[in-house]
Amino acid sequence: MKIKINNCYQKKIFNLCLPLYRSILFQRIKFETENTTEENELIKALNIKKRKERITYIYDRVYEKIEEQTKNINPCNFKKSKCEIQRKIKKGKHGCCRKCYYRTEKGCKTQNLTCKMFYCATIREKYNLPNWNDFEILKVLTLRQRILLKSEYFSLKEDVLTDLYIGSLIIGTGRIIYRLIRNSLREKKSKS
Ligand code: SF4
Ligand code: SF4
Repeated sequence: MKIKINNCYQKKIFNLCLPLYRSILFQRIKFETENTTEENELIKALNIKKRKERITYIYDRVYEKIEEQTKNINPCNFKKSKCEIQRKIKKGKHGCCRKCYYRTEKGCKTQNLTCKMFYCATIREKYNLPNWNDFEILKVLTLRQRILLKSEYFSLKEDVLTDLYIGSLIIGTGRIIYRLIRNSLREKKSKS
């Protein structure tokens, strides 16, 4: 099946059809496009028919793009384990990760996309940083998966991918809360 998106109208139709395109009804359909890189990525995601593989591809693509966009600006400007804000208030270490179980002296031990997208207001005012809406490819995820993805702080990448695969807001929220409680108890234990 060939897809052309040359104007706003075609884009609107494509977006309306997306829930159908990603569904089981299009399991055997191979999509093709003659359009830009951004759309090619979207089509590539639609052509991955195994759900977990598709979710992982989308997750990794967005993560890589954020890394690419922020690699030269170092927004949080860490020095001696203190971010810009912590140096100003002369308190705390390790920035927003300070209480996270997955923080190590060398940084985060996982690739958490939700955390990667987070910057405090002061830093966002200073730099032009990526937002969720910048990534068209995320439209291949369902609305529930997108809502979950925005709440998956302090989690391992593997856990986030499992939550997205399950795709249930109730189960996903329960798993997020469970991990937060479990990891905060672990963190306390490791300090005592
Ligand atoms: S987002 Fe703000 S508070 Fe968080 S680590 Fe960066 S500078 Fe510090
Ligand atoms: S999971 Fe998030 S909060 Fe935890 S260390 Fe990694 S980036 Fe920081």
